Amino acid sequence: MNAEIISIGTELLMGELVDTNSSFLASELAKIGVEVRWVTKVGDDPKLLREVIERAWKRSDITLTSGGLGPTSDDLTRESIAAAFGEEMAVQDDLLEHLKGLFVNRGFPMPETNIKQATLIPSAQTVPNDHGTAPGWWAEKDGHVIVAMPGPPREILPMWTSTIGPKIKARNPDVAIVTRNLKTFGISEGGLDEMLSPLFQSKNPYLGIYSKQDGIHLRAIATAPTDAEAWELIRPMETEIRRVIGEDVVWGTDDDTPESLAASLLQAKGFTLGIMESFTGGLLASNLADVEGSRHFLKGSAVVYRDDLLEGHGVDPKLIEEYGPINAHVAEDMARAARKLFDADVGLAITGLVADPTDASGPVGTSHIGFAIGDSVSSTSGHYPTSRLRLRSRASTHALLGLVRFLNGLPPQSLSMRR
Ligand code: ATP
Repeated sequence: MNAEIISIGTELLMGELVDTNSSFLASELAKIGVEVRWVTKVGDDPKLLREVIERAWKRSDITLTSGGLGPTSDDLTRESIAAAFGEEMAVQDDLLEHLKGLFVNRGFPMPETNIKQATLIPSAQTVPNDHGTAPGWWAEKDGHVIVAMPGPPREILPMWTSTIGPKIKARNPDVAIVTRNLKTFGISEGGLDEMLSPLFQSKNPYLGIYSKQDGIHLRAIATAPTDAEAWELIRPMETEIRRVIGEDVVWGTDDDTPESLAASLLQAKGFTLGIMESFTGGLLASNLADVEGSRHFLKGSAVVYRDDLLEGHGVDPKLIEEYGPINAHVAEDMARAARKLFDADVGLAITGLVADPTDASGPVGTSHIGFAIGDSVSSTSGHYPTSRLRLRSRASTHALLGLVRFLNGLPPQSLSMRR
């Protein structure tokens, strides 16, 4: 079964309103095995709206519209469906009574303009809207369905969940969709694309590649009559991906985050953590603090933004003098100092250069990450030429994934990313 989504409203075309409804509907349709083929945004123009609706109705099994069900003259979704179907809208007495009742409850009479919210065409049924005055329409003609839903997210979301979603799912019962997300770090998007190119030809499972803050995600989606059969399709693809790119490159799956992995490892080993960070400005600690129960393992973090303050936090000034503030020796000593400062089992530190290209201390976009446990220290470095915000976030991700490797006794993984 295929579908098309139409988001209606001139605000959407002016860039004043972000179309979150179509993203919501697209992800919900994917979950129930309906293939979305087109998403269109159209303004409140009767001619264009009719054109878009008529085209969608003819070419798609199901068309979902959002918006344009309000009482005003520029709310034209109903009129456009009626025109496309060649049917007349007629006021329904029961709907009108219900609508008037809503206004009585609100303490004022119903404006005349709202009457059109109580209309139907012969091919449509109403869909109850428990959060607004505009009921939706389920219109069906020649085996093709148009579902008209209201624009406000607080109305469309419950309408989808309570009525529309189950109704569409019931028309498409024998489809199970399974998704497996493999999260990687260390190989660029282009590199992965090249290595896995034969797998990207596969239709089922379908393999997608997405660049995210925490690395590149590889998402396999399989469709089959049952969950078990869908998993049978996904498993060999996952095995092949891991074989081709290397187990080392896949740091997590599905809902894993760098901070959730680092946190569970620290907790499993009963370790506490002290952090010292410079250009990430507290982001590293903030990411870890987002994890539930973080106070059990995170003892503290010192943000030492200026190099001349490192000595005061226990970093050896001779190292800074000899190597400058941004290098692996200093990162390792910062980790050692962080462990001491917070009397923690493990120290994690990050130093790097983010903004000033005239600074001679090293190339912009370079970070050094230090790890310390007992007397043992190690470090890794990363180079990620990207914007300031993304750089801090990349470096913080690298540090957390580096910590996971360090705690697992794996060698550090230095990185040089193209993007
Ligand atoms: P109403 O009865 O409130 O007028 P409606 O069905 O006519 O509802 P619109 O007038 O098109 O809907 O939009 C009402 C509000 O809903 C918009 O101002 C906006 O806040 C929100 N909205 C509409 N379309 C979208 C969309 N595609 N994504 C996110 N929000 C939207």
